[in-house]
Amino acid sequence: MTQNILILPGDGIGPEIVAEATRLLNALKDRFGLAVELEEAPIGGAGYDAAGQPLPDETLALARAADAILLGAVGGPRYDQLAWELRPERGLLAIRSELALFSNLRPAILYPQLASASALKPEIVGGLDIMILRELTGGAYFGKPRGIQTREDGVREGFNTIIYSEPEIERIVRSGFEIAMKRDRRLCSVDKANVLEVSQLWREVAERVAKDYPKVALSHMYVDNAAMQLVRAPKQFDVIVTENMFGDILSDAAAMLTGSIGMLPSASLDAQGKGMYEPIHGSAPDIAGQGVANPLATLLSVAMMLRYTLNEEAQAARVEAAVGRVLDQGLRTADIWTEGCRKVGTRE
Ligand code: ATP
Ligand code: MG
Repeated sequence: MTQNILILPGDGIGPEIVAEATRLLNALKDRFGLAVELEEAPIGGAGYDAAGQPLPDETLALARAADAILLGAVGGPRYDQLAWELRPERGLLAIRSELALFSNLRPAILYPQLASASALKPEIVGGLDIMILRELTGGAYFGKPRGIQTREDGVREGFNTIIYSEPEIERIVRSGFEIAMKRDRRLCSVDKANVLEVSQLWREVAERVAKDYPKVALSHMYVDNAAMQLVRAPKQFDVIVTENMFGDILSDAAAMLTGSIGMLPSASLDAQGKGMYEPIHGSAPDIAGQGVANPLATLLSVAMMLRYTLNEEAQAARVEAAVGRVLDQGLRTADIWTEGCRKVGTRE
């Protein structure tokens, strides 16, 4: 069965890195029998230029119809003066919420060839391969009531609400178990159950869902300890699942364990496992159009798409192995270049 992939190049280095991902997908198609059809549409500043909207109606319709979406990046100084509703970033938030992409996967992988680029000691990060799963559409970022108010005594106070319903917890935790099943079958649920009721419910639901996954070892950790453990001994983790704000913080910390922003992919999935895949970095306007951007985060996003949405594990492994071989050959874009390696551009 042929699956449809919608490609959204976006802005800045987006079109350059996505062009390489398109070449990769076509190679998998022509040489290894991958059954996909590719289509392209504008989003972000490109959407605004083409249709006056950062998420044109036609792009959204194609996104809804597609099996998977590959995004480059959006945004750039050219669009900074636009009203918020027309800004490129708005297009990204809109597509995430329109498609109900509540599950955000961010792997932190350290390629052995790049170990010297990490700030941490090789014995701590060498061989690191963990996955952080962040809930993306709930918690304090969306909870109500929220605001800033003035009390009767004239003192101002700000407040937000961390709220999660049982179904919201269940679907993200379930997503964590599904991913753990495709990996080392260890899931660590991160919360603050010693202080927060919302975390107590989270823990309860996680234990309940665990009964459906007897092959996965579930553990629980408080978020403060998890932050410490991520830096102290990150390799103890396989998959971490957590709520929106904890995940925001932990996934950024985990990404930096590995060094380069040009190497890390991400996925945002809906309840059916359909999803949007993108590098974690932005549109890098400072290097756009120069052909020097690192395309590997985008190519690794294609690998994630093959694994998590298209169910093509062998093709995913093929892409990851190819990235490894490129690094073995000592080829490096500027962001990951070190002494003794050969500096190459995006296309090379
Ligand atoms: P955003 O708000 O979209 O996340 P940002 O300004 O926070 O954007 P990036 O656009 O990711 O961050 O850029 C941060 C820095 O990393 C820039 O100096 C940029 O050139 C560099 N960078 C980002 N992506 C890449 C890449 N793929 N290859 C090389 N350098 C990159
Ligand atoms: Mg940023």
